[in-house]
Amino acid sequence: MTLINRVKRLFGQKQEAEEIPLKVIPRDEHSISRNNISEPALKVLYRLRKAGYGAYLVGGGVRDNLLGLNPKDFDVATDATPEQVNQLFRNSRLIGRRFKLVHVVFGREVIEVATFRAPPSEDHSDKVSRQDDQGMILRDNVYGNKDEDAMRRDFTVNALYYNIDDFSVHAYAGGWEDMQLKRLRLIGDPETRYREDPVRMLRAIRFAVKLGFSIEQHTAAPIRDMAPLLEQIPAARLFEEVLKLFLAGNALETLRLLREYHLFATLFPATEHCLQDDDAAVRLVENTMANTDDRIKAGKSVTPYFFLAALLWPQVERVRREYEEQGLPPHPAMQKAADRVLAQQIKATAIPKRFSIPMREIWEMQLRLPKTRSKKIAEFLGHPRFRAAYDFLLLRHQSGEDLGELCDFWTQAQKDITPEPVKYVPEDDSANKKRRRPRRRRNPSSRQ
Ligand code: ATP
Ligand code: MG
Repeated sequence: MTLINRVKRLFGQKQEAEEIPLKVIPRDEHSISRNNISEPALKVLYRLRKAGYGAYLVGGGVRDNLLGLNPKDFDVATDATPEQVNQLFRNSRLIGRRFKLVHVVFGREVIEVATFRAPPSEDHSDKVSRQDDQGMILRDNVYGNKDEDAMRRDFTVNALYYNIDDFSVHAYAGGWEDMQLKRLRLIGDPETRYREDPVRMLRAIRFAVKLGFSIEQHTAAPIRDMAPLLEQIPAARLFEEVLKLFLAGNALETLRLLREYHLFATLFPATEHCLQDDDAAVRLVENTMANTDDRIKAGKSVTPYFFLAALLWPQVERVRREYEEQGLPPHPAMQKAADRVLAQQIKATAIPKRFSIPMREIWEMQLRLPKTRSKKIAEFLGHPRFRAAYDFLLLRHQSGEDLGELCDFWTQAQKDITPEPVKYVPEDDSANKKRRRPRRRRNPSSRQ
């Protein structure tokens, strides 16, 4: 980084630090009640306070609570260091390198406790704070006070702190007003903030859809041009984001916004390519999203591999046809198509094996479903992936392929024929084998 840029950055941040406005909303002027905060979250807040640390509920736990929504999880911010938090709670573990924090575990609920952060600065060693030449934050472990921490948050409505001491809400940077206006606005200069962490572009879409908020114009404006920055984000982190984006009950609207802001192409490049010139692909992908939303609304389970299989299906079909035209028989053509499409896809958004294996099975079973005279129908019905493959067939029919008779056949077959359980043949997959080895437990006495 040039000296000029360093000075600019330092100067810019100093200015912001001094300017961030705070509004305190006393307990009788907001709607947050402790009844709407989970028992474990309250335990963490009170324990931190008792030990003499500052403790605030922050992020979705406050924002969603104020909007009358059920928070997905509870995040806590404190002036205790991760090590101090870790010492205070036996049921906690230190996690993260890029952004160190502590998970306090209560059965299935995890409370995320983060230490107040200060702005990234050149004054610190690379060990605690690091940015690349474009300004992307590679490490963010410089601790600060609450005002500085607020500046590091992404959107103003995410910089709301619920104070367990007097039950007031501390709102920074106009977050309280933005809540009333139902507006999503980045704190600070949007371009700088997206450069620091391009995932914030995806978060903008996710929160806009989830909360029914508009994206304020300066926050929205740079997204289309900056979308390609997402290519620098580790594929595994993007996969986590993809699950959050599409499994929250508003997948259809999310897809439309992601496409509108040119973000979808960075997550699923081949799919976007198909959607550009193939109406059938648009119908299939949109129906998948709508079905996923319906299932979530009806309280049914949704499996990521099903919707991922559908997202990549148009490209798999294209490539498979190519291989068939080159003279390969259907099954090897399908296998090679699956290999190629998955290998390309995981460069953008990693797909763990536990999902890509069933995705392949769904695709390959599409070739077996038309074989209605097979003697192995009972066995096929007993295949652990039959139901998903059948649902996939219905989805294809619903999206315009003429598969009515085939759908009827398999609907009827499930009523008439008793499935034969398939002998389980373990996948010969070295990655899985490795995982099965028992992990060495961390010695509990190593905690200081
Ligand atoms: P939800 O839990 O519903 O996804 P949330 O706002 O709680 O929403 P989290 O991902 O749990 O989001 O993060 C908690 C808080 O941490 C956010 O509200 C925000 O203040 C801060 N935060 C999270 N990710 C970022 C980021 N990439 N950049 C800046 N701040 C972030
Ligand atoms: Mg949260």
